[in-house]
Amino acid sequence: MSRATGTKRTERNEPAKRASGAAPRQAPRGAASVSPSVLHPGSLNHILFVLRELEELYGFGLLPADEFATGEPLDGLMLTLLSQNTNDRNRDKAYETLRAGHPAWGEVAALSSSDITSLIRPAGLGGTKAARMKDILGRIFSDFGGYSLVAMLDWAPEDVRSYLSALPGIGPKTVACVMAFDLDMPAFPVDTHVARLSRRLGWAGEKASPERIQEFLEATVPYDLCRGGHLDMIEHGRKICRARKPECGECVISRVCGSFGLPAEKRAAAR
Ligand code: SF4
Repeated sequence: MSRATGTKRTERNEPAKRASGAAPRQAPRGAASVSPSVLHPGSLNHILFVLRELEELYGFGLLPADEFATGEPLDGLMLTLLSQNTNDRNRDKAYETLRAGHPAWGEVAALSSSDITSLIRPAGLGGTKAARMKDILGRIFSDFGGYSLVAMLDWAPEDVRSYLSALPGIGPKTVACVMAFDLDMPAFPVDTHVARLSRRLGWAGEKASPERIQEFLEATVPYDLCRGGHLDMIEHGRKICRARKPECGECVISRVCGSFGLPAEKRAAAR
């Protein structure tokens, strides 16, 4: 996804655009410090091995934090709110339309719900998202004395998580996206690709929810690997470990994947 914020180009959840500019690097064998043959699925070493292999291939962990953030975490919160239940293109279109005429969040807050609904229509669920947007902006103004979350940059991560989680329509994935991308805080957003890979690799049960997987990854993955690991896993899920026809023969982590070679009906979490 191209995360167009109106002031600075950033990307989250969709590294394909950035990755397409350069040929993927070859995954080095033996990149991790332990032999893959002794790795237990879901163990820290197994996770580190996978993330290092994917990072060698896609390299999103090399991107600095300021590549993603505008400096105003509220931008990221609203963008991620718009991204719910739609694709990146429609989300960006809605966001750009909204911000083009209303570059200050106070201007957006002053709009009627029906006006916001019209502006963000490309993102779908316009009425619901507009209501949440106005509600959230009102709460933030009341709590922060303005339409800004910059103060959160100095907050403890657990306080950020607690505050954002209490906002209407803001779930664990949105909270994690804002923390990882806009605040450079430890968080591992779990989308459909990350969830699918986690299940197929044996890091989570076949029926484990994205929320449960996120809890596990955030408790396990070192902070400095979270954002890059999230992006690398999404890229792998889009290019190789696809839902319906994964390219196991092309997969650099196949030797540590319990789903390698399994027929589709037995492969974990096909969706
Ligand atoms: S071996 Fe197949 S199922 Fe396992 S991660 Fe790679 S592409 Fe996905």
